[in-house]
Amino acid sequence: MKNIFLRDRTAQDVNELVAKVLRDLGNPEPPLHMDHVRELLRLDRQYYSSTEDGALREVAHRLTIAGKQVLARPALLLDVIKKWDLRALFIPDRKRILIDSELPEAKQRWSEAHEVGHSIIPWHIDTMLGDNKQTLTPACHEQIENEANFAAGQMLFFQQAFVQNARDLTVGINAVTTLKKRYGNTITTTLWRYVEQSEQPMIGAICCHPHRLPAEFDWGNPFRYFVGSRSFQQRFSNTREVDLFRQVQTYCANRKGGPLGATDLQLQDDSGLRHLFHFETFFNQYEALTLGVYKSAHSVVVAVSS
Ligand SMILES: [Zn+2]
Repeated sequence: MKNIFLRDRTAQDVNELVAKVLRDLGNPEPPLHMDHVRELLRLDRQYYSSTEDGALREVAHRLTIAGKQVLARPALLLDVIKKWDLRALFIPDRKRILIDSELPEAKQRWSEAHEVGHSIIPWHIDTMLGDNKQTLTPACHEQIENEANFAAGQMLFFQQAFVQNARDLTVGINAVTTLKKRYGNTITTTLWRYVEQSEQPMIGAICCHPHRLPAEFDWGNPFRYFVGSRSFQQRFSNTREVDLFRQVQTYCANRKGGPLGATDLQLQDDSGLRHLFHFETFFNQYEALTLGVYKSAHSVVVAVSS
């Protein structure tokens, strides 16, 4: 499972910080205008290119992180960006968000919201890149990243408004595409929020066309993206991605685009009981979206000889 839920207390703290931003913006209607957010928080946005060393070096030259260190040694920032394969970053003492211009535009929105997340979470400032006194352990880094992603999701999907909208719509991929348009975010992030807000066991996945696998297809990691609702993670933690992918292949047609198929599939919970999920897959020319929604416990049919 690729999504991690924050501890309730942390989620609540971050939620309050996001709520303040939305309130200070005058509780606007979606979609969220990132330029309004930057203006409110007095953040500055700049682009760099991760493929052109020169452009990045130039940005690095203009920066100070935690004093003079980076200014004196721009290579430090380059190292950090390369080492962590950063697509965006936040420079606290300049209140500046840097975004990799190579990143597709649709994804820049998420990256920017993620960096805004870092900027509004007070305990991130001390642990961010800028702080060279503290070495960030991988676990600590991951926690910080999860929190910034959570903030981005809450901000771009207007917290409870999205949950309410999601619950007013008939459950399914159609609801996800409707919400994608309303909130103006990518299909991937919409699917992620849609699955996470579900109180029922629910699973969302994104992969290539299940019948048009690229040469470099990785069977060990068939889904580019695999998320489960909280109750799914609690009850179906043994679900193997590769098994599920093979099942998705069985009901999907080798069609060029649109709905590829739908069916009920059985998944085994952690105590070995079988449950029915309704699965559907949609191909939007770039990627295949799969949504699995809990239906019922599977009633075992006992064959009785007469
Ligand atoms: Zn981050």
